[in-house]
Amino acid sequence: MDQPYAYRRRELVEPDWTRLPAWRAVTAAEWRDPQWQRAHCVKNVAQLRAVYGDLLDDAFYADVERDQAERATMTILLPPQMVNTMVPGAVPTTDAMYADPVRRYMLPAFSDRDPNWPSHPRSSRDSLHEAEMWAVEGLTHRYPTKVLAELLPTCPQYCGHCTRMDLVGNSTPQVTKHKFTLKPVDRLDAMVDYLRRTPGVRDVVVSGGDVANLPWPRLESFVERLLEIETVRDIRLASKALMGLPQHWLADEVRAGMARLAATALARGVDLAIHTHVNNANSVTPLVAEAAAAMLETGIRDVRNQGVLLRGVNATQEDLLDLCFALQDDAKILPYYFYVCDMIPGSEHWRTSVAEAQQLQHAIMGYLPGFATPRIVVDVPYVGKRWVHQLESYDRVRGVSTWTKNYRTSVERDDPEALDRRYEYYDPISTLPAEGQEWWAREALAAAPDQVRAAEASRAAAAALVEA
Ligand code: SF4
Repeated sequence: MDQPYAYRRRELVEPDWTRLPAWRAVTAAEWRDPQWQRAHCVKNVAQLRAVYGDLLDDAFYADVERDQAERATMTILLPPQMVNTMVPGAVPTTDAMYADPVRRYMLPAFSDRDPNWPSHPRSSRDSLHEAEMWAVEGLTHRYPTKVLAELLPTCPQYCGHCTRMDLVGNSTPQVTKHKFTLKPVDRLDAMVDYLRRTPGVRDVVVSGGDVANLPWPRLESFVERLLEIETVRDIRLASKALMGLPQHWLADEVRAGMARLAATALARGVDLAIHTHVNNANSVTPLVAEAAAAMLETGIRDVRNQGVLLRGVNATQEDLLDLCFALQDDAKILPYYFYVCDMIPGSEHWRTSVAEAQQLQHAIMGYLPGFATPRIVVDVPYVGKRWVHQLESYDRVRGVSTWTKNYRTSVERDDPEALDRRYEYYDPISTLPAEGQEWWAREALAAAPDQVRAAEASRAAAAALVEA
């Protein structure tokens, strides 16, 4: 029967890294070695050029370099494993790199960005206000029964759209990162202390950054301390590296350590799981499936995926379902959530409107098992995750949706109106009808006339340069 989506079992394939000039002689043993992967990460355009050589045009390298100088909120950091999933089935060409879904979010180019509205006027650093909700440094207490513990501000890979661009990674010319002030050991002690004296919290997301960048003994000791707190019932370790650097999770030390933690969790009746972040089916390779299987073999409860909905990466019915089936069929990773990309600076070209997200939620229903059908959610500032259909009102001309909540975040303990207030979320301006786009242009001009005129002048100069 003809269906809008044609399911097919997709065999996982590890792309051949020897097709890339820099890695022609790299052996399978080197490729599986996490230290080799970390030592050969691509961190700048010169290293990118060393990997691809003259396969890519100079204009592409210049485009990436300009993005780093003028737009990027994250520096470049790509393990070879992730580089290898760009243009996976062929020797890369410039056009194929521009079109590649993994490249589009992990290695942004200036020309990818929205030329008129690279950032939404209401975008902000720390758009979810996590730092405002820190109970102690790095421990966000937003929801009544759960907390987010940011153990460290680094990852083995940096995503262009990172929601924690405020804190995570190195500073870029556009963004000076905030720094933790406490020493790491004191910060982790303060988190454990808070959880001991806050029995209402039963669920701890142990994150960062990425826990794969914490030396294993330090992560194990932190999780052991959580497991000793009687009131903590769910622990989730957040690591995109399960996909970006699966070699880390396949290392003997990590497997043995996870087995110890899983045994303790089981004995205490606590659910210990790994949450990863995969955004496109091309990233799901045999090594990723092997790492997920190795973690499940340790006896943890589950490995789940929280992806981000990104235009040009996965925001179609086919791309989302291909990804979910690759995760579910062969990698045994539960497709769990897709977050609509947050309102951070520079993200307009990746973001979808709420209406598009609603259509995509509709489009993926009924193909996957119900328990593996991901919810598409909007993380509404000062509210938290809401399913895309849960809005209270929606002005489709200006792209303003409003949302309510049924709990107080930690910054509204004494606010009598917190549960009645409507909180706003904004669609990307390029998705609005002309009337809405003109309204935002007038708003921006009234709010910051000098910046708007300077941006217009710079756009006109750039256009003249292209014409010339
Ligand atoms: S892995 Fe997560 S925390 Fe790290 S850069 Fe990507 S989105 Fe940000």
